Amino acid sequence: MAQLTEEQIKVLQLKVQEISKLPPDEQQDAIYEKLTPEEIEFLKEQQTARGQGGGCPFCGIAQGKIPTKMIYEDNDFVAFLSKDPANPGHTLLAPKEHIPILVKLPDNLASKITVLLRNLSAAIFDAVNAQGISIVQQNGQAAGQAVPHLVFNIIPRFDNDKVNLEWENTALTEEQMTEIQGRIREQAKKFEAAAQGTPLPSDAKPKKPVKFRGPGP
Ligand SMILES: [Zn+2]
Repeated sequence: MAQLTEEQIKVLQLKVQEISKLPPDEQQDAIYEKLTPEEIEFLKEQQTARGQGGGCPFCGIAQGKIPTKMIYEDNDFVAFLSKDPANPGHTLLAPKEHIPILVKLPDNLASKITVLLRNLSAAIFDAVNAQGISIVQQNGQAAGQAVPHLVFNIIPRFDNDKVNLEWENTALTEEQMTEIQGRIREQAKKFEAAAQGTPLPSDAKPKKPVKFRGPGP
């Protein structure tokens, strides 16, 4: 482990700031000219720690470093009680690996997660006599994701509880809806083709309609 004092870290941060202002093709050389071997080692270790979810609370829970009220654990996932519950029984389900958002989830884990959400929902329904369950999952800061580690909130619901998941509708014209439908359908062709086991030529029509509802009722 490269050990730097707080003062040395401040000096290093200033040097890194200066280097980041250089043109990209000069940055690599500047790192070796301006930084000491200890400073370079320190930066590398920080990067590795970030890649492995260093400082991430959900990684800490998955690795058993942060105590939690564990509900379920297997090789790939942990489920535990939220420490800021919306209702009693509010459970978080997260992959053990530091995967930031849903679209980065590998296929084998993606198919497993639906089964886990179903089974945990069933357990929570029974355990707290829930009248409903909301499943909330956010991707990206704009969506309200606070920690960049994929997590599903399984929230038991009760009549007149204090959970608020409402939004204001956005007014779109028929043309805008059709245009958006077309763009998403185009993207969806990729995995539709993969699901059928045959890659589609880019200009081909899908063999089956994409399983999305278009605009309209
Ligand atoms: Zn993490």
